[in-house]
Amino acid sequence: MRTVKRRSRRVFVMVMSVALATLAGCETNPYTGRSQLLMTSVSQEMQMGAQAYDQVKSDPKMRPSQDPREVEPVKRVAARIVEAAKRSKYAEMANQFQWEVTVIKDDKTPNAFALPGGKMAVYTGIFPMAKTEAGLAAVMGHEVVHALARHGAERMSQGQLTNAGLQIVGAAAGASGRGGMLGQATMAALGVGAKVGVLLPFSRKHESEADYIGILLAADAGYDPREAVALWERMGQTSSGGAPSEFMSTHPSHETRIDQLKRWMPEAMAIYQSKQPVPAALLPTVP
Ligand SMILES: [Zn+2]
Repeated sequence: MRTVKRRSRRVFVMVMSVALATLAGCETNPYTGRSQLLMTSVSQEMQMGAQAYDQVKSDPKMRPSQDPREVEPVKRVAARIVEAAKRSKYAEMANQFQWEVTVIKDDKTPNAFALPGGKMAVYTGIFPMAKTEAGLAAVMGHEVVHALARHGAERMSQGQLTNAGLQIVGAAAGASGRGGMLGQATMAALGVGAKVGVLLPFSRKHESEADYIGILLAADAGYDPREAVALWERMGQTSSGGAPSEFMSTHPSHETRIDQLKRWMPEAMAIYQSKQPVPAALLPTVP
């Protein structure tokens, strides 16, 4: 019994070391200079992102909206944010991604996500928080940065999610992953939260990075970056009695977040003022 345990532990350590030796890489965030340890390759992450997206879309509870009043503004904002990403310091990766956005008809969940590989979802429940297309740009800029800055991959590589880590190691060892389902921990690490049953907010560092680079992207896309402050103020006013989501996460606190956004605002405003501004069209109101 004991030997078996020890042996399996040894095998585990060996597998992990091989995986680490072949995969571990250090990346530096081109905007913040923060160094990240990553155990996966971008192509593996993109594969996982596509798989997570298919899983979300195949969930019968996740109804895609067919209403053009909901779909059109989301597509408009997504297209402009993606164009800005393709001009950004993440241009190389943004150009590799196969971007796509789905609007999920769920008025109760103020959520949105963007996965490695460029698959995005916006829940109609975020509309009252975002209020305008510029508010939505703040949301989508933030989410797109989580994907481009490889936050999900970093989170999986940190070892805080043993199961997810093992799954990645398995996938990296050559298993194609085709036909298999991603576990909840992996889904959560990638940023797919609320409806999958596991809530795992991004860390404070990841959230701050997404906020900072997100307003730069939104500004570059022609949206008023100050809408990000208004958005978080509205989020702060909403009671967190509903379902938890990425956007209701408390890391960092709303106050810290707003203070930081105000500190970064001059840089974002300088970009915004050099662009042709996009009118802040109102989003459809939820009945
Ligand atoms: Zn976030």
